[in-house]
Amino acid sequence: MPTSSFPAPEPAETLTVMGAGLVGSLLSLFLARRGHTVEVYERRADMRLSGAVEGRSINLALSDRGWRALEGVGIGDEIRQVAIPMYRRVMHDAQGNLSYQPYGHDNQAIYSVSRAGLNRTLLSLAEANPRVRLQFNQQCLGIDTRARHMELRDTTTGEERQVNFRRLFGTDGAFSAVRSAMQKTERYNYSQSYLDYGYKELNIEPGPNGEWLLEKNALHIWPRGQYMMIALPNLDGSFNCTLFFPYEGEHSFAALQTPEQVQAFFEEVFPDVVPLMPELTDEYFRNPTGSLVTIRCFPWAFHDDVLLLGDASHAIVPFYGQGMNAGFEDCTVLDQLLEQFGPDWHRIFDEFQRRRKPDADAIADLAVYNFEEMRDRVGDPRFLLQKKIESK
Ligand code: FAD
Repeated sequence: MPTSSFPAPEPAETLTVMGAGLVGSLLSLFLARRGHTVEVYERRADMRLSGAVEGRSINLALSDRGWRALEGVGIGDEIRQVAIPMYRRVMHDAQGNLSYQPYGHDNQAIYSVSRAGLNRTLLSLAEANPRVRLQFNQQCLGIDTRARHMELRDTTTGEERQVNFRRLFGTDGAFSAVRSAMQKTERYNYSQSYLDYGYKELNIEPGPNGEWLLEKNALHIWPRGQYMMIALPNLDGSFNCTLFFPYEGEHSFAALQTPEQVQAFFEEVFPDVVPLMPELTDEYFRNPTGSLVTIRCFPWAFHDDVLLLGDASHAIVPFYGQGMNAGFEDCTVLDQLLEQFGPDWHRIFDEFQRRRKPDADAIADLAVYNFEEMRDRVGDPRFLLQKKIESK
């Protein structure tokens, strides 16, 4: 990492990052490159030691905005080694017929990457940087924005302590403790809205020789009107599927209560994929059902003391595959502002939130819209024809 090629700003500071997920770990690299010392606190154990910590999608679609940020800290090539390009959507209808929509021209693609793999790589790069200190098992219980201190609980010992900060970056995700404290400040705007849909992760096994049993370089969709399933490829020949399904109703999580019901339902509506999912019913009942939330808030900054980035400030539903990408773009934009305004943190925080908020609102709306498109319209012959014309 070319840390020394960057001039240290005047003056270098000790900065605090809360949350070492995808955005927090990348942010720490950006801040360290500018000469700052970065203290990172993370609630979970070190995922590099404790095996996979999944819960949310096992793989993610990484696109242009995300790549730009990774290249901004010089790790684009490293991640490209473990990313699978997806050049098109492949739609599977209820009879198992396939249709195709390219994502762009001339090999343009979005990329399937492992969430845990990417997070682990970012953590290792952060740790290798002498200016970054990672502390795991540290849960933020709350912060005092005015006094500039936070309450931390060591999740292994239960011990609580108070830690001062000068500047705090809240990258602690959709249910951010940092944002919770900001919500108690005067005239704070906040809203959260859940879809009536949840999601469940399932798995398509690799073939006997580790081969992909569906087209590898594609994002697969089974659009079924009121619900859908998608699948993204993994390096080991498997695919990670996500079923987006209503909580209630005739076809819903509530309606599928037994293994027989699940098996019969999948055989009826996703017949081509059932033979590739030998663990279907076990996984269906073992894996949790995740909820889908859009979170909007403003301001994202408290004076020049606290700034929210990533899902902490703009959690969106996953149908545009842009939540992480948008959080990564936050890092790119913040870095540009650091370059432009040097040590004027007040200006940096203010410009950041004014520049990013309209974009975050736009992608939040587009993500909900794209759900309707993927669920209802991508399988519609009129839509396919229109896409064909557009791609010419
Ligand atoms: P997180 O990844 O949530 O990380 C927050 C970190 O903070 C975690 O490590 C957490 O342990 C830690 N933390 C939380 N609370 C505390 C606390 N109190 N104290 C200390 N630490 C704390 N995005 C895409 O770009 N492409 C996709 O294809 C895509 N697919 C998705 C599919 C699904 C089903 C879902 C749910 C999301 C998807 N996303 C996708 C969105 C993406 O997962 C998020 O936007 C991204 O994870 C946000 O990163 P983050 O670092 O801001 O938050």
